[in-house]
Amino acid sequence: MNKTALIIGGSRGIGRDIALRLAKSGFNIWLTYKSSHEAAGEVKKEIELLGVSCDLFSFDVSDFKETEAALGPRVEKQAPDMLIYNSGIARDNLLVWMTRDEWDSVLSTNLDGFYNVTRTVLFSMLAAKKGRIIVISSASGQIGQAGQVNYSASKAGLIGAAKALAREVGKKNILVNVVAPGFIETEMTEKFPKEQILPLIPANRLGRPEDVASVVNFLCTEEHMYIHGQVIGVNGGLAM
Ligand code: NAP
Repeated sequence: MNKTALIIGGSRGIGRDIALRLAKSGFNIWLTYKSSHEAAGEVKKEIELLGVSCDLFSFDVSDFKETEAALGPRVEKQAPDMLIYNSGIARDNLLVWMTRDEWDSVLSTNLDGFYNVTRTVLFSMLAAKKGRIIVISSASGQIGQAGQVNYSASKAGLIGAAKALAREVGKKNILVNVVAPGFIETEMTEKFPKEQILPLIPANRLGRPEDVASVVNFLCTEEHMYIHGQVIGVNGGLAM
């Protein structure tokens, strides 16, 4: 039987490429998103053309009850082999102007969402005594980014959470790692001023979603995997 990868936030951008890459590797995909029904439907079609299945789940990760209602019944029957926690938003502003809503929405989606999803799924993975959890953080969570105090806090929080979880579940044969992208060409970064960003990147280009997807795919490979509790930067040298 094919293994299953649960990709949280797979309708667009980086998550979409992760879903397609893992589908190419033979995983059946459980793909979640918030409200982009049409985009998610397109990804589902592309995945099914690769000869594996794709089930869609639409819910808001910042809401525990919604998350549990959407994923709970499925994971009670079967644990996913891989959990990729990728959903995230940015609401950039200098802290001096940042509204309480800009702070709350980013923390509740990016960090509470991790709790809501992982708390719902983890028991089934522990019972299966195997699995991988990959958390998509950001270089902003490693080095900080002006205008992103909320986002950097949420992404640094994910790194701490993933490392602590790695210590809890490693002996249950569940490997937990973090992938921290730099600037990747997606809707999230389309308005960023490229002329100001490029001089910061030694590789002299922005990343592409597939650059992140190939690292996630590597962390999902079966053979000789002894990487656990690590933060792997995919940033062209932006943070080192
Ligand atoms: P994106 O294109 O905006 O896609 C975000 C995905 O997350 C979508 O599938 C979206 O679903 C889902 N999502 C957002 N809020 C959600 C919520 N409340 N509940 C459920 N699903 C939700 O983002 P991206 O640029 O690919 O980024 C993906 C991840 O990488 C994020 O965690 C981001 O912080 C991180 N990252 C991105 C970059 C970058 O340069 N792009 C750099 C570092 C880290 P809908 O389509 O339904 O809204």
